[in-house]
Amino acid sequence: MPAQPVTAAELDTVLTAHWPDAACELQARDPWELLVAAVLSARTSDQQVNKVMAVLNEHLVGVEAYARLQPAQLQGLLRKLPLHGQKARAVVEAARALLRHHQGRVPEDLDALRRLPGLGRKTAAVVAGNAWGIPAVAADVHVARIVHRLGWTAAEDPRAAEAAVAERFPPARWVRLCHQLIRLGRAHCRRMPKCHACPLHGVCPGARQDGRP
Ligand code: SF4
Repeated sequence: MPAQPVTAAELDTVLTAHWPDAACELQARDPWELLVAAVLSARTSDQQVNKVMAVLNEHLVGVEAYARLQPAQLQGLLRKLPLHGQKARAVVEAARALLRHHQGRVPEDLDALRRLPGLGRKTAAVVAGNAWGIPAVAADVHVARIVHRLGWTAAEDPRAAEAAVAERFPPARWVRLCHQLIRLGRAHCRRMPKCHACPLHGVCPGARQDGRP
């Protein structure tokens, strides 16, 4: 098993070769829709979120429409998603906060996004990076798991993973890198990793050596 952490250059080479065009798969027509989709994406697939967003868009357009709702009303439209009650509250609270503090617009500012109720650090980074092109590392539990296995962090911790990525790559690389890490995670670096087929197998200190798929 390699004892050294994967280098940034090694990771960059593999990600660029295998997932050169990785991008956000949440479908949104504007920053607000992306914010809603990003909130809804916790613990479900982007494809499932896109289906739910298509239904939401038939009923609701714009921040004000969401802000007028009671969370229970929105929850009914989200019932196919996990954590739908929590997500409904987060979206409605975010919409109301945007009307109260940002003239109903999604702020083009990472810190302001982080201050919105209902948005975690990762969700704020997704919106900043993909709606506004602001460099931000969107590190969730999946990215944290990969970064830990690469040998960059002592534990699987999203905040530590965010810092580890940020110190190894220039800001202009952060947004696409996170999408590429997500692709790596889906293809190989799952909870039960498929190391035997992973292009990082020869250099990754976290690779399984038991030959199991
Ligand atoms: S799948 Fe295995 S080899 Fe690939 S990055 Fe994850 S732990 Fe490392």
